[in-house]
Amino acid sequence: MTEPARILVVGGGYVGMYTALRLQRQLRAELRAGTVEIVVVTPDPYMTYQPFLPEAAAGSISPRHVVVPLRRVLDRCRILIGEVRSIDHAKRTAALSTLATEEEGSGGIELTYDELVLAPGSVSRTLPVPGLADHAIGFKTVEEAIGLRNHVIEQMDIASSTRDPAIRDAALTFVFVGGGYAGVEALAELEDMARYTARYYHNIKPEDLRWVLVEASDRILPEVGEDMGRYAIRELRGRNIDVRLETRLESCEDRTAVLSDGTRLPTRTVVWTAGVKPAPVLAATDLPLNERGRLRCTARLAVEGVEHAWAAGDAAAVPDVTSGEPGKECAPNAQHAVRQAKVLAENVAASLSGRPLREYGHAYAGSVASLGLHKGVAHVYGRKLKGYPAWFMHRAYHLSRVPTFNRKARVLAEWTLSGLFKREIVSLGSLEHPRAEFELAAAPPPADGDKPSS
Ligand SMILES: Cc1cc2nc3c(=O)[nH]c(=O)nc-3n(C[C@H](O)[C@H](O)[C@H](O)COP(=O)(O)OP(=O)(O)OC[C@H]3O[C@@H](n4cnc5c(N)ncnc54)[C@H](O)[C@@H]3O)c2cc1C
Repeated sequence: MTEPARILVVGGGYVGMYTALRLQRQLRAELRAGTVEIVVVTPDPYMTYQPFLPEAAAGSISPRHVVVPLRRVLDRCRILIGEVRSIDHAKRTAALSTLATEEEGSGGIELTYDELVLAPGSVSRTLPVPGLADHAIGFKTVEEAIGLRNHVIEQMDIASSTRDPAIRDAALTFVFVGGGYAGVEALAELEDMARYTARYYHNIKPEDLRWVLVEASDRILPEVGEDMGRYAIRELRGRNIDVRLETRLESCEDRTAVLSDGTRLPTRTVVWTAGVKPAPVLAATDLPLNERGRLRCTARLAVEGVEHAWAAGDAAAVPDVTSGEPGKECAPNAQHAVRQAKVLAENVAASLSGRPLREYGHAYAGSVASLGLHKGVAHVYGRKLKGYPAWFMHRAYHLSRVPTFNRKARVLAEWTLSGLFKREIVSLGSLEHPRAEFELAAAPPPADGDKPSS
């Protein structure tokens, strides 16, 4: 019996999940006959719907509903939880590590393939800012979003219980670096949540919290255009958020954020959302990369100059055929990722059966951003909206986009319930250390010399 043709999908995010989903539909007969196999390798058993992360941080959506379980959605694919470490496309092999190989210390496994779909997305683009790696946090994963929510509420608990004004001020100062939609939405949602939560603290008023947005360019939210970006600045400043344009973070050592305008902000919270760069695995392949480390691709989403390799999403430099500007690439966003995945899957299926491939082209439709509960900004198909209508549009748009009916229903139910009841204001930071309580109980009693004297 001949081996099935193996399609290896690297990454289970937007592109990975949607490509595999469409492939398993298009190749239903081949999968049933065992002539084709789809293997998805991804570090987490779920796809994260990243545009919902700010709302998850604000507590408006529970973390489980921001993610889509891959095993349920991709029931005809093989899901391997692990990471691709390197790819030798000339030999059609990928080296991976899985949870099991790490446990066994066996140094990983090699997987051969016939078609390669590269969709490992991007990671936070950091700069060599002193203290950044040790003290800052990103905002790309559900773990970071929930960790940040817990952290913000914990800082309010610290501020509420300390008598030291320096500790209190540092605890109540929150610095966000990067004014794209991830940074602005995360800041705006968390500020809104903290402002509400403050009413349950006897000694913290919303004005005591200091929120700072640091942006290197002269505007924020470039995705919604200049006018709406200016409106967003006014809206944030109206809420006492300190928006610093043309300013950079110079260092964040010793719990002090130092800005390029000379400001020193004692703080225990630095959130870094200053852009993304392609996933590091791309550098460990023999495939062509551009100067920014993205995979060079054709408009048909094939990797340039090689056969049987495909890519899309944040990791891929796909020519924007709708722009008319030579050399312009599609921006790294979900709008392109979802649409590219559809064309990518169709082209992989077409190439297997010798049919012609089609080009990817999508003119950017604009963007919507939430600025907290009932506040937002949007610029879509030339229409500009702000305030409640923009916020409503943001929710309606993302509800229509979040994958699976199951998720849509759960998110809608949560939004409806949160409209009827008060907001959740609890920090479950202890979830990050679930064994702490038991370790304390199981620890040997202190030696006599360690006992506090009465
Ligand atoms: C907070 C936030 C809000 C956003 N809001 C919007 C928005 O409103 N509108 C919009 O258009 N875009 C938005 N985006 C951007 C959008 O989410 C991304 O552009 C989109 O996720 C890109 O899809 P992708 O498949 O390329 O990457 P991802 O969805 O990031 O998926 C990459 C996957 O590959 C996996 N992976 C990485 N390395 C490896 C490896 N070595 N081996 C195996 N798997 C690997 C990752 O774990 C991940 O599962 C937002 C992003 C963030 C962070």
